[in-house]
Amino acid sequence: MASDVRDLIIIGGGPAGYTAALYAARGNLHPLVFEGFAYGGQLMITSDVENYPGFPEAVMGPELMTAMRSQAERFGAELVADDVTAVDFSSRPFRVTAGDQEYQARAVIVATGATARQLGLDTERSLQGAGVSYCAVCDGAFFRGKQVIVVGGGDSAMEEATFLAKFAANVKLIHRRGEFRASKIMIDYASSKENLEFVTNAVVTEVLGTDTGKVSGVVLTDTVTGEKRELEADGVFVAIGHDPTTGLFKGILDMDDAGYLLTRDGSTETNIEGVFAAGDVVDHTYRQAVTAAGMGCMAALDAERWLSHAAPQPAATAATGSSQAA
Ligand code: NAP
Repeated sequence: MASDVRDLIIIGGGPAGYTAALYAARGNLHPLVFEGFAYGGQLMITSDVENYPGFPEAVMGPELMTAMRSQAERFGAELVADDVTAVDFSSRPFRVTAGDQEYQARAVIVATGATARQLGLDTERSLQGAGVSYCAVCDGAFFRGKQVIVVGGGDSAMEEATFLAKFAANVKLIHRRGEFRASKIMIDYASSKENLEFVTNAVVTEVLGTDTGKVSGVVLTDTVTGEKRELEADGVFVAIGHDPTTGLFKGILDMDDAGYLLTRDGSTETNIEGVFAAGDVVDHTYRQAVTAAGMGCMAALDAERWLSHAAPQPAATAATGSSQAA
């Protein structure tokens, strides 16, 4: 066990985690940041980011994340390329396990993000960032005048398809069933777009273009007849939902039915005093790098204030309504 008790541990290496780390490091909290084996989060599979303020000529997703990481490190954040495997918030100081080590801290910020669900196709994986995208707001503008496909039948798919119809020559929304899960109003918005067509009872079973390294279409399989056909496309937007990365916190931190962490009104604090949460792990509405970064800043400021005014002194061991980590 690492013997020293840190002021702050941050779990997560995306825009929320690194921004929290930057603010906490500048606030002299010497944060220890578990950025995971694959640091950077969802932006690592995004190409040009045109909507992060301060980059008028756009910035590549991985480049932006590397810059955030270096900025946090420059002010003294200690980065650990390890995944956290267990947490124990049932007594103070809090305990966090990564690899075969246990670390202790007076406060913790959870910024573990969310992951866009994937179709699970090899061809989808190899064309990520080359026409396969999981975020229309991020990548839609690159498909001006192009043909795009959106996969999914929920509100996200309707929203993404409606958004893309503003840029693309035509949009085909592919859904695996005959009925949509989306709300009527979202279906109505999408239906009102003349260049948007619904293709139901169909699944994408292959993304075409691996030979040229750029999406050229998809293979669709009819879920009723089993028949296959090819559809030309320049872009494939997969919008089949997101999963927050909260498995570690089940039974410990309060979360909603979809597994997103809940925070107190007007604060980033969770149900456990001294444990804060920021970014996509909390937010299923906006899900932008800039909003995640903003919440990371808020969490660091909340943690800093809590540590200086409200936190029990290091010798105290009182527990606050938590349970043992899984
Ligand atoms: P969702 O409601 O879970 O819908 C996911 C959709 O993807 C479903 O239609 C599902 O098909 C389909 N799907 C799942 N796995 C698939 C697979 N492997 N292959 C093909 N299709 C697959 O997720 P969401 O649309 O992201 O919405 C999540 C929540 O956010 C919802 O509560 C939604 O209302 C909310 N939201 C609201 C707004 C808004 O109000 N502006 C916008 C976006 C999201 P089945 O229907 O067959 O299961």
